[in-house]
Amino acid sequence: MGKPSDLALALESLRRALREQVVPLLPHMDETQEFPDSVRGLLTELGLLTLVVPEAHGGLGSSLTDLCRVIEELARWDASIAVFVQAHATALRPLLLAGSPEQRRAFFGPVVEQGRLFAFALTEPHAGSDAAAIAARAEPAGDDCVLSGRKRFVTNGGIADYYLAFARTGPGRKGLTAFVVPARSPGLSVGKRENKMGLRASPTTDLFLEGVRIPAAHRIGAEGQGFALLTATLTASRPTIAAQAVGLAQGALDTAVRYAMEREQFGQPIGSFQGIRFMLAEMATAVEAARALLYRAAACHDEGVPSPALSAMAKLFASDTAMRVTTDAVQILGGYGYLKDYPVERFMRDAKVTQIFEGTNQIMRLVIAKDLLGRSRE
Ligand SMILES: Cc1cc2nc3c(=O)[nH]c(=O)nc-3n(C[C@H](O)[C@H](O)[C@H](O)COP(=O)(O)OP(=O)(O)OC[C@H]3O[C@@H](n4cnc5c(N)ncnc54)[C@H](O)[C@@H]3O)c2cc1C
Repeated sequence: MGKPSDLALALESLRRALREQVVPLLPHMDETQEFPDSVRGLLTELGLLTLVVPEAHGGLGSSLTDLCRVIEELARWDASIAVFVQAHATALRPLLLAGSPEQRRAFFGPVVEQGRLFAFALTEPHAGSDAAAIAARAEPAGDDCVLSGRKRFVTNGGIADYYLAFARTGPGRKGLTAFVVPARSPGLSVGKRENKMGLRASPTTDLFLEGVRIPAAHRIGAEGQGFALLTATLTASRPTIAAQAVGLAQGALDTAVRYAMEREQFGQPIGSFQGIRFMLAEMATAVEAARALLYRAAACHDEGVPSPALSAMAKLFASDTAMRVTTDAVQILGGYGYLKDYPVERFMRDAKVTQIFEGTNQIMRLVIAKDLLGRSRE
């Protein structure tokens, strides 16, 4: 997916496959919270699990910009599908940033050859916004490491083959370290699937680590480098959340535009009323503005100058836009927008979490303010 023409073609075939094979399943997936094996199979077959895997390891080696384009396209149809790919890409990021050649071979290989899935396990019961409060421990045991603790809200929990988990190897921020934990490790178990407002087909679970022994070679980066790795990972990943938000906002806008042309009241299409036209114009403008900011953050990353503040701005602006645009889309559909017969209520429920995960929008403001004012005035 290097050249724009390659990407355009790939997105077109992705769109066709989604329309034909996934869209008919979406209401059932939303109702039952199931992520069907057939959908996972399709996304794997399309190579979407290898998007960020370097070409040298058999992956597509996509730029962050192209990754965002794919996630945006997926989210136009369904955010649960987008987050399946997005969370996996986020969990692979520390390997891209700090994995040794052996680790890259050991973990990218199974992704490319066997469609293995990664999940990102950072959050804990008492460590949400305050990631440095992580309590899960990793203790040395000969050539191994033993992990104990509980992770919360793990996307792809229970269906992932590997967890990229952060654990404490010492005190404070400098005491955090990242590890790859195979899902089949003895002592590892997952909790029930959380019953959620939105992103319902995306599995979210607890992860319990009870004396999980893994080779010390599964440590990614140096001991104590976890917090720095986390910050770099989130800087790369927040634009992908923004892409999810822009995609689902676009999906809601498309539905609202179609509906405004078809639905008649007072003897004319509701799209002829200025009140509706102005709403649609504002929605479209906000989506374009969010898209521009998101791809600016992604381009900075791709040019080798990743900016935590720009990534935070993109996520903040795009997720607030998604919430507003999807709410307006429900309004434009009137009572029908409130029914599950149309996708806009699902888009509205799915939009909410983009303001929450990978750092809430309050935390995004702290990141931006820190860039403007420095730490002392946070
Ligand atoms: C569907 C879903 C999927 C998720 N997937 C993952 C995943 O794959 N991996 C993972 O590790 N985590 C995941 N998360 C967790 C997510 O990243 C956290 O929920 C999020 O970071 C917020 O943490 P918290 O829920 O503990 O809220 P808290 O940190 O308890 O925050 C509660 C409220 O206080 C506000 N707040 C906190 N601190 C401050 C401050 N200093 N200033 C101002 N306001 C503040 C917050 O903005 C929020 O409004 C997921 C969450 C959800 C809902």
